[in-house]
Amino acid sequence: VKKIAVLTSGGDSQGMNAAVRAVVRSGLYYGLEVFGVQRGYQGLLNNDIRPMDLRSVGDIIQRGGTVLQSARCKEFVTPEGQQKGADILRENGIDGLVVIGGDGSYQGANKLSKLGIKTMCLPGTIDNDISFTDFTIGFDTAVSIVVDAVNKLRDTMSSHERSSIVEVMGRHCGDIALYAGLASGAETILVPEVPFTIDEVANRMRQNFEHGKRHSIVIVAEGVGRGDDIAKGISERVDVDARVTVLGHIQRGGCPTHNDRVLGSRLGDFAVRKLIEGESGKACGIIKNELVLTDIDTVVNTKKGFNKELYDLASRLSQ
Ligand code: ATP
Repeated sequence: VKKIAVLTSGGDSQGMNAAVRAVVRSGLYYGLEVFGVQRGYQGLLNNDIRPMDLRSVGDIIQRGGTVLQSARCKEFVTPEGQQKGADILRENGIDGLVVIGGDGSYQGANKLSKLGIKTMCLPGTIDNDISFTDFTIGFDTAVSIVVDAVNKLRDTMSSHERSSIVEVMGRHCGDIALYAGLASGAETILVPEVPFTIDEVANRMRQNFEHGKRHSIVIVAEGVGRGDDIAKGISERVDVDARVTVLGHIQRGGCPTHNDRVLGSRLGDFAVRKLIEGESGKACGIIKNELVLTDIDTVVNTKKGFNKELYDLASRLSQ
């Protein structure tokens, strides 16, 4: 490859900027020409492509969001849209593309790869719902934001003997709830991967109050349902004032943690090096702190595993 482009697609996440910076600066370091595609696949179809130099990615490593902006693009889901995208890249002389995004963005990259564009995917989403990587870029920051919020809720909860129900993001994946729940000492963590009944949740809360706990924190992954419904179910069964906090998009904003910056930097550089080595149609990930390449096909067709060991640990420690 001689000319590569980078784009961010789907929901944004903290650390995407570190990854963009790494792709640009590693690409230039290895003698490639590097281009930035603005606003994901939509920008590609609009030919919104500009050359990137060393300075174009200055002062962004500490920022949330993505300087390349992101978008959802219906046209790109059609074969005609994908062909148009491949043609536009070729017309610009671009033979390699790094896509930073979630599952849908991977599917798009896979299509481009099958149309002869050398593509690499990086996991950019707070949800941690991508297989063949232990962590996605943005997940660590999102978890930190939830933990920080729960710290604050704890102070006020224990003064009033209340129960705090905290609804967190993650789509169908319970990882944000799991890691944030363990790290913040939540009594109960509700995730789509582990079945539960409201009676069990209520009984556990009742027992904890009987054992002298003064507050109760329940983390609810959005994949399980609404925090409001969980609170209603608890209030019907236990004599407790259950208050709901929905953290929402706050989880997707703010300054990325050092973990997300390091992960974005390592993966961005890895993607460029692998493109230079001639790889294509691959997803970059990190497993046991080693950078790994997996076929995009395999990644999009494999559901991310759930860390039941960690879930059981959180459960044992929260009695
Ligand atoms: P997140 O999980 O963080 O929201 P995502 O990448 O999964 O990120 P999507 O909106 O699903 O977000 O996908 C981003 C874009 O990728 C879509 O707007 C669309 O242009 C493209 N895309 C999604 N699915 C496909 C597909 N099956 N084929 C081609 N392109 C697709």
